[in-house]
Amino acid sequence: MNSLILKKGRERSLKRRHPWIFSGAVEKGGGKAGETLEVRDNSGKVLAHAAYSPQSQIRARVWTFDPAEAVDAAFFRNRIQKALVLRDALPAAKHTNALRLVNGESDGLPGLVVDRYADVLVAQFLAAGVERWRDPVLDALTEISGCEAIFERSDAEVRKLEGLEPRVGFARGNRDAQRCPIIEYGLNFRVDVEAGQKTGFFLDQRENRRLARTLAGGKRVLNLFSYSGAFGVYAAAGGAASVTNVDVSAPAIEAARENASLNGVVAEQVVADAFQYVRQKHGPFDLVVCDPPAFAKSRNEVERAARGYKDVNLYAMRMIAPGGMMMTFSCSGHLSLDLFQKVMFAAALDAGRRISFVRRLTAGPDHPVSMYCPEGEYLKGFLLEVH
Ligand code: SAH
Repeated sequence: MNSLILKKGRERSLKRRHPWIFSGAVEKGGGKAGETLEVRDNSGKVLAHAAYSPQSQIRARVWTFDPAEAVDAAFFRNRIQKALVLRDALPAAKHTNALRLVNGESDGLPGLVVDRYADVLVAQFLAAGVERWRDPVLDALTEISGCEAIFERSDAEVRKLEGLEPRVGFARGNRDAQRCPIIEYGLNFRVDVEAGQKTGFFLDQRENRRLARTLAGGKRVLNLFSYSGAFGVYAAAGGAASVTNVDVSAPAIEAARENASLNGVVAEQVVADAFQYVRQKHGPFDLVVCDPPAFAKSRNEVERAARGYKDVNLYAMRMIAPGGMMMTFSCSGHLSLDLFQKVMFAAALDAGRRISFVRRLTAGPDHPVSMYCPEGEYLKGFLLEVH
């Protein structure tokens, strides 16, 4: 087995079970893209087995910290099985047939994301290591989940950093990829797993949408960055007086229209830039949901992203009637919770409103975050009271 030998002292993060080995920590060694290597400290002691990514700054990702554990097809079957058992046990599993089944590092499977949409799985192979094990992974997924159709959405930007070409299409089976019907807490949605954003639906927001439903009764609701209108459907189902979805993407708003009619609810659908929409004369609203895309895709974009979050939140706050509420989110992994809170403080101050935190919002329990890899915690949010 080939090895990767770390510089002196650079084994520290591995000892803290962080699964990433950065290029700067490597003294010598390597192998083929995706090959499993023994990772050794400078004295030669084996610390882990990891997948080699020759082109990425994250030069290797740890499969196991147990030098005696083999990385083979059975290893992947075992990890996938564990991930699925965890999902089956979640309370939400009784109320939805759409869940994240595998969440990368958090499930001990760096680079692998798998979402279930009823009887279709959507898989993303995002690193050289898991790419190499694609077939055994697909086989194990079919066998353990019982889903015959697996659609591959290996078209995320991060694949470029690994030197991998995009791959999109059915890897197993076949279905209507543009309209996968799912149910969440009694509501119906159609998911476009082929051309939709990410894997087609924002499963991470499920529990926050459920919260929106409980808050929406009698309220005028504005859903900024609505995508396929899921928050809007929940709000309408919760008895909202009115619902307005705003998204810059015409296909997203078209999907929102379809999702509203599937559930027999009414929502105003607006194709617009949210930054402009909040500057125009609209409202007032009693509940605003603000869930923009990740403005910071890398560390050096954090400052610009912070300005974007502040801007849209500040104007959105001004549209809220006294006593109203706001659910506001950032899904930029590089923007810390601490910084997001500061940004909301600055927005509140400039909006000239008295605002309190009611509770913190996070991704749902099917998106666990490894204690050892906090980079996995990207979605942060606050429920705010606006006076
Ligand atoms: N809350 C949604 C997910 C939102 S994803 C859900 O629960 O399903 C972010 C959305 O923001 C995407 O649909 C994207 O099209 C939209 N978007 C990006 N830039 C925008 C802009 N400037 N104005 C309005 N929408 C924008």
